[in-house]
Amino acid sequence: MFHRTCILVLINLVSIAAIAQDQGAEPVTLFENVRIFDGKGTALSTAMNVLVRGNVIERISADPIAVSRSSTTAIIAGNGRTLMPGLIDAHWHAMLIATAPAEAITGDVGYNNLLAANEANDTLMRGFTTVRDVGGPAFGLKRAIDEGIVNGPRIFPSGAMITVTSGHGDFRQLSELPRIVGGRLSRMEQIGGSMIADSPDEVRVRVREQLMQGASQIKLTAGGGVSSRFSPIDVSTFTETELRAAVEAAENWGTYVAAHAFTTAAIRRAIAAGVKCIEHGFLMDEETARLIAEKGIWLSLQPLPEELRQGFPVGSIQRIKADQIWPGIARTYELAKKYKIKTAWGTDVLFSRALAKRQGAILASLTRWYTAAEALAMATSVNGELLAMAGKRNPYPGKLGVIEKGALADLLLVDGDPLADIDLIAEPEKHFVVIMKDGKIYKNTASR
Ligand SMILES: [Zn+2]
Repeated sequence: MFHRTCILVLINLVSIAAIAQDQGAEPVTLFENVRIFDGKGTALSTAMNVLVRGNVIERISADPIAVSRSSTTAIIAGNGRTLMPGLIDAHWHAMLIATAPAEAITGDVGYNNLLAANEANDTLMRGFTTVRDVGGPAFGLKRAIDEGIVNGPRIFPSGAMITVTSGHGDFRQLSELPRIVGGRLSRMEQIGGSMIADSPDEVRVRVREQLMQGASQIKLTAGGGVSSRFSPIDVSTFTETELRAAVEAAENWGTYVAAHAFTTAAIRRAIAAGVKCIEHGFLMDEETARLIAEKGIWLSLQPLPEELRQGFPVGSIQRIKADQIWPGIARTYELAKKYKIKTAWGTDVLFSRALAKRQGAILASLTRWYTAAEALAMATSVNGELLAMAGKRNPYPGKLGVIEKGALADLLLVDGDPLADIDLIAEPEKHFVVIMKDGKIYKNTASR
């Protein structure tokens, strides 16, 4: 009897060991017969095979690649379709899309996170495998995505956007004034959406709090904004000393500050203080474009769609400000091209899942100024370079936005050639056959 039990135990141990070995094996995906847009080039490659092991692109070869078939191996017949890097949106607010503005501030935090998780899944299903979150309480969402609890893109979080009193990001009502310095925080501050700071010391505290929570870069608002009621568009908000305090704190942490700024004055002050990335910049003059180029500063632009402007009610403060900004969009893209500025691409979709659905279409609209290859490079390899500025604070060390040996395996298999027809990326449900992030397949409708 004793002997029989021993044998049974032994058999069980052997089978458990076999299962463990199988589970421990890194998943392998082989894309056969694909033409590659590598994130940088101007044309697709000839037919290639691409091997992904774990979360990394291991091999790219015109010759067949042999793989041993196991339960963790997937072989995808490309049939000449296009393999390209996952898309990157450099100006995204993961927590501020699915909610209405008032709900984002006063609504239930748990509910808002669940809404954001739902939208994060949609974002990934549109082929956006990475976003740079430039303001909003996205740390919890990021963690849940990274742990595989919910599906979504990689998030490079800034945490709360940091503003002065009355600046872009101060969402208080006049009835909440005056603030007692060191007193109770406003609701948006309590939930980590934005933080108000009115001295270099306060700026340092707020910046370091974001870094403590895992911010990969810091977002400040250096001038007025469209959607905030109490920030005129013409103002410069933080003093240079305040901006420098943020830059020092970020750089001590090995990362950088991105500043929201429209006007020449706000942009120049931010650059003087050491800011490395300007968001929007739509009211800059030509001399400032030249300065940005000379200094190698990043310009993070968004081809904001016309319906966003029209969404603000006629006669509202926001609409008056939007009417000032919108003509600057085309002009700024032209300046960015003229001076060969390092230009990131993003959408800045806010409070609209309908508009978020058009994320790919907004990218495709860049063909007003760029070739399809240039536009797609911006949303892949170029944005990948911007993300890498997070240095050691990069939550996903490895190369993003390119298809090359050793890069992280964020990949899209596209039915058709997006360099010939960029509108393919506007209909991801139809044309994206495989969506892979970090070596894991989230969508696969390719037939063998
Ligand atoms: Zn924004």
